[in-house]
Amino acid sequence: MNASLDTAIDWAQVRADFPLLTRQVHGKQLIYFDSANTGQKPESVIAAVDDFYRHHNANVSRAVHALGTEATDAYEGARNKLAKFLNVRGDELVLCSGTTFALNLVAYSWALPRLQPGDAIVLTRMEHHANIVPWQLVAQRTGATIKVAELNERGELDLPQLYSLLTAEVKLLSLTHVSNVLGTVNPVREICREARKRGIVTAVDGSQAAPHRALDISAIGCDFYAITGHKMSGPTGTGALWARREHLAAMPPFIGGGEMIKEVRFEGTVFNDPPHKFEAGTPNIAGFIGLGAAVDYLSALGMHHVEAREQALLAHATEELSKVEGLRIFGRPADKAAVISFLVEGAHAHDLATLLDLEGVAIRSGHHCAHPLMQHFGVPATCRASLAFYNTHDEVEAFVAALRKVRKLLA
Ligand code: PLP
Repeated sequence: MNASLDTAIDWAQVRADFPLLTRQVHGKQLIYFDSANTGQKPESVIAAVDDFYRHHNANVSRAVHALGTEATDAYEGARNKLAKFLNVRGDELVLCSGTTFALNLVAYSWALPRLQPGDAIVLTRMEHHANIVPWQLVAQRTGATIKVAELNERGELDLPQLYSLLTAEVKLLSLTHVSNVLGTVNPVREICREARKRGIVTAVDGSQAAPHRALDISAIGCDFYAITGHKMSGPTGTGALWARREHLAAMPPFIGGGEMIKEVRFEGTVFNDPPHKFEAGTPNIAGFIGLGAAVDYLSALGMHHVEAREQALLAHATEELSKVEGLRIFGRPADKAAVISFLVEGAHAHDLATLLDLEGVAIRSGHHCAHPLMQHFGVPATCRASLAFYNTHDEVEAFVAALRKVRKLLA
């Protein structure tokens, strides 16, 4: 990583864009190290949501009055901004509430009508439950089976084992781009190429990739790519599914209602064209306008700068944590995002996180919606510190000092 990319930006000024980061908790200055859970929002995103409700609030795609047109233009404008950010076409981007909905859309609209007994789906050991449970539901209803790609000792996918699973009965491979627990960045381009060679459709969970790296979905070569807006500085309840046009054209709608139709008769309904065919009901209009502002913000910052900054913070945090006696870091992948899962000998993850909270440090403890990964490591829970570009090196030092302090209390 080019260090000059990290130093090219005034990060103190960037941090000042995030009002929440100035607050105190339990009388201490907040250190927010839980961005893999949800990201904090810059002033411009908060202002965009506020401005919509103050000045433009109306429903989309329905009314011809001025407010209706403004709301529709702003909503569709946000779709186009997001599409440009991801390097895909706007009409291939289904707006939805987040990755969970996006993956369920693939499961119910693409997989459910196609899979049958004897078919198989390949997942990986490091998936979030959002990329496991929908496939289990589909497998139960279709008679398909699920096969699991395992990890090597560094917490990376064991690629030869994964490729050995890609046999003739496999119809779909669904995997995460970046692990929310280990930070492992999977070589999705190479993996999707191997799957495609074998005629296997691929879905990628980009929840933890889109906030941290420059993304070019078109270059990945997958069939579906899911993102969630609240982890990329946008409002909660926003996200998207990108899908190849041929899939969107062939897939039946998952949810029915207003907006997703051209004509409704009791004899039968003509559906709207994609992506609107998959967007029934009134969407989270203000949320998507906020997501558009988040995309503007990240684009102005430059995702290469974001990545460089987070890599510098990750290297610093890893080095400092490695000096803490009895601390185990889970996963040492060669390509890693700024997520560190750890445990300290003799201390329960929740006790550590609770005591750290009293010191003002917000980390997550638990299974991180990744039970099969916890089973792999033989632990019920880990602590997870996840960093973002708005964090600082001083916060890294203060976090490790707080960890040393609370560890003594638990000894
Ligand atoms: N996949 C991964 C890797 C995640 O980290 C998350 C969120 O934690 C999700 C899926 C689910 O995202 P959402 O709850 O926003 O739908």
